[in-house]
Amino acid sequence: MRTLVFATNNAHKAREIEQILGPGFEVRTLRDIGCTEDIEETEDTLEGNALLKARFVRERYGYDCFSEDTGLFVDALNGDPGVHTARYAGADRSADANIDLLLKNLSDKTDRTARFRTIIALVEQDRVLLLEGVCEGRIAEQRQGSGGFGYDPVFIPEGYDQSFAELGDAVKNRISHRARATMKLMETLGITLAGQPD
Ligand code: IMP
Repeated sequence: MRTLVFATNNAHKAREIEQILGPGFEVRTLRDIGCTEDIEETEDTLEGNALLKARFVRERYGYDCFSEDTGLFVDALNGDPGVHTARYAGADRSADANIDLLLKNLSDKTDRTARFRTIIALVEQDRVLLLEGVCEGRIAEQRQGSGGFGYDPVFIPEGYDQSFAELGDAVKNRISHRARATMKLMETLGITLAGQPD
């Protein structure tokens, strides 16, 4: 069993990454290492925020670790919500309110092309690396499905007619932005996984 420290308290993200990695890995979250602080994302890029979280854990707790930051980039909105994806509709980070605002802002747009970008920052004693995963797709006209989290009910990945919320974990964890970035992380760590993203 190999243990990796993941600088997050987002249970959805931790679960997805555990599922992508499979049974040979234990993923320890911030709570698991005794970190109860809310690490504020103060940078204006995904890269900056991912680095900030992983560096904080490495410096404060001494663990090699990785973190990730994800954004949804919508072409017709000039790349919004982008780095502000979590707080698009306000500081309380409500997924429902975020989706409502996104659908409202796209109501008069025909181009609904969008992409999720995940940046994983790996911070070890002697190296710092950034890895990117992108998933192209489009924003649905309305919510579809009840699985997943965040914007999943309105994100339809390229090549599919169903949203991430309808496609379910097995498909999402093969093709998603997070899956692609995680596969690169595993390659970097010299770990071979059974499944590879399409
Ligand atoms: P953060 O990376 O925790 O800052 O998340 C950014 C925002 O994107 C939050 O609103 C998340 O709920 C949302 N988000 C992150 N990853 C996903 C995903 O895989 N699907 C849908 N929404 C996501």
